[in-house]
Amino acid sequence: MVDVAGLVAGIREGRRAAVSQAITLVESHKPEHRALARELLAELAELQAGAPQAVRVGISGVPGVGKSTFIESLGSRLTAAGHRVGVLAVDPSSVRTGGSVLGDKTRMARLATDQRAYIRPSPSAGTLGGVARATFQAISVLEAASYDVVLVETVGVGQSEVTVAGMVDTFLFLTLARTGDQLQGIKKGILEIADVIAVNKADGDREQEARSAARELAGALRLVHGKGEWAPPVVTCSGLTDVGVDDLWQRVLDHRDHLGEDGLAAKRARQQLDFTWALVRDELAERLRHSPGVARVRDEVQAAVLAGELPATVAADRILEAYDGP
Ligand code: GDP
Repeated sequence: MVDVAGLVAGIREGRRAAVSQAITLVESHKPEHRALARELLAELAELQAGAPQAVRVGISGVPGVGKSTFIESLGSRLTAAGHRVGVLAVDPSSVRTGGSVLGDKTRMARLATDQRAYIRPSPSAGTLGGVARATFQAISVLEAASYDVVLVETVGVGQSEVTVAGMVDTFLFLTLARTGDQLQGIKKGILEIADVIAVNKADGDREQEARSAARELAGALRLVHGKGEWAPPVVTCSGLTDVGVDDLWQRVLDHRDHLGEDGLAAKRARQQLDFTWALVRDELAERLRHSPGVARVRDEVQAAVLAGELPATVAADRILEAYDGP
């Protein structure tokens, strides 16, 4: 049995075991756990009202771009500067296969043993929506435990970046220098949500190449963004040698300054509203899956659609009628 009051106290004292237990609770799909998680989050929200919130940063890039090396470098610099750093992961591959590209603690060995850092792998069960829900709630748990920087890592595939961009203040995109057209190698959607872009692995032989890639990309982005709008700065860095990592962090802070206190509050309020509807959709999908009415007609309707006997629109109506009940 989970003792919510004890958990709240433990979290507020910053005890790792309590933080881990709370995050396990918000990741759980069991109805009784979800009720407890709601209770826990409501208490934390009440206690945290008006308290300073963490700097929330999303970090994305394709596997191999150097995310974990970079986070290790950035995270260690931040903890050395007195910050408490939480690292969360949203890994769509773990949703599909149960296996994980991200979040393996051994990838960040140094940060994993840092007393001022907390690393949590991606929840591996459920849908991307479910993982997003758990991660958004885990951010609240970390904030209540006085982590003042939360880094949310995700792989540069599919819908996961948009999901992560919806829960952070600043979205950082890591890329590599490529020959040829820089923009072609990067999915358009990413450039729309990125607030800061870094050409990583700018070390050794690659340094020059990275610099010219960054210049080219910055130029292209200036054309896309209007005057007065935040044009994502493009910098170079190396998570391996730490070069450029401080500058990159400064760009993240610059982006927050650009938003301003009101802008940031408005952005977070908007995210809460979007999250509200995401939770509603998630819950409705869950209810649809478990609806006894739908279960009664499902096989028959599906078979009729497959046999070409029932148009999709009529079939959908039948399922919805069964869901709504008599
Ligand atoms: P992730 O999959 O994005 O998390 O990438 P990793 O951090 O695991 O790095 C992938 C590979 O690139 C590893 O072999 C790293 O040693 C290497 N790597 C990561 N960062 C850098 C960097 O800044 N410079 C160089 N030269 N190699 C790097």
